Amino acid sequence: METTELKSAFQVDERGYYGTFGGAFIPEMLYPNVEELRRNYLDIIADPAFQREFRDLLTDYVGRPTPLFHARRLSDTYQTTIYLKREDLCHTGAHKVNNTIGQILVAKRLGKQRIVAETGAGQHGVATATVCALMGLECIVYMGKIDMERQKPNVDRMHMLGAKVVPATSGSQTLKDATNEAMRHWINNPVDTHYIIGSVVGPHPYPDMVARFQSVISEEVKKQLLEKTGRSTPDYIIACVGGGSNAAGAFYHYLDEPTVRLVAAEAAGQGLTSGHSAATTALGKPGILHGSRTILMQTEDGQVVEPYSISAGLDYPGIGPLHAHLYSSGRGRFFSITDQEAVEAAFELSRLEGIIPALESSHALACLPKLKAASDEVIVICLSGRGDKDLAAYTAYLDK
Ligand SMILES: *Cc1c(COP(=O)(O)O)cnc(C)c1O
Repeated sequence: METTELKSAFQVDERGYYGTFGGAFIPEMLYPNVEELRRNYLDIIADPAFQREFRDLLTDYVGRPTPLFHARRLSDTYQTTIYLKREDLCHTGAHKVNNTIGQILVAKRLGKQRIVAETGAGQHGVATATVCALMGLECIVYMGKIDMERQKPNVDRMHMLGAKVVPATSGSQTLKDATNEAMRHWINNPVDTHYIIGSVVGPHPYPDMVARFQSVISEEVKKQLLEKTGRSTPDYIIACVGGGSNAAGAFYHYLDEPTVRLVAAEAAGQGLTSGHSAATTALGKPGILHGSRTILMQTEDGQVVEPYSISAGLDYPGIGPLHAHLYSSGRGRFFSITDQEAVEAAFELSRLEGIIPALESSHALACLPKLKAASDEVIVICLSGRGDKDLAAYTAYLDK
């Protein structure tokens, strides 16, 4: 049938799947909340009044469109043409706010008064606390007790923005425990609370909803590239993948353009065989994590493996179901980037272009020497965030 032929093989289907990945594997207690969202999110997002409010905030509050910058000295170094999509110039310093703005507007339209979120390193917590302050909604962020000690500046930011930060004291007192406690809060307060997930992970409809909000990245790249080069499609688009939201946004409008090669950078940490890594596709197998079927790092008997990366934003044992599908189908190409390679790429960009990238984004930059792109090819790199937050990690790495 014509309609099925026209349908993208890389968009979510009606059941919430990307190929064999996705779905909503949730406890029965959570079903009413997720179902309310699933029934309403497409209509809410399609509403012209929603679109107007979302677009106005992206323009006047976030500072979009972010520039597409032709990095000439970096291009010379790799004998090719490289553009940087400057998500580091978004308000709060990274792409995460594109999603939290979208979700808080959805929450308002669902009549919610309170926002709950979990955070690992604190970056999603800060992006959530930011939009809650903007909209005057109550904000509760669950964070592992150990993470609160490790990431004190972000805890201070959330406090200053008026959020309540609740320490998760169970288990390993890190991200997964914060997730469990935030879920429990949501189950107990289904009527007045919305749970803001920070990446293209979790049960359907979260991966699709977050991808739609982040898709503004590739929407802008298409226009900007056309203006600058006369062509709206690059040969490569590269992004780092933690859960995969900046990559989903950067790939979104190119998913069905086979000439555009989609390149994802995963954190290999201290090396793929070191036991200290977060390279999900290289080391993982299919399974269920945080409510969806995806690829995750797990032991023989299915226990989730504790991930490691120098970059807090990539320190996650899974990837979103869209990325699991891109990997399995061969549509996306995945590179494993070590801490060392990422740090070297960060210094290279700083010295060549005067831009200090986030550690996460440095993983995308570190794909450049591995690509072997031709001199007439065009590469777009999603620079997901700025590196101010990572200065201590960069300096400590040098001193080692
Ligand atoms: C959180 C974060 C990431 C990783 O999250 P994704 O959902 O994979 O995009 C990447 N870069 C920066 C700057 C981040 O803050």
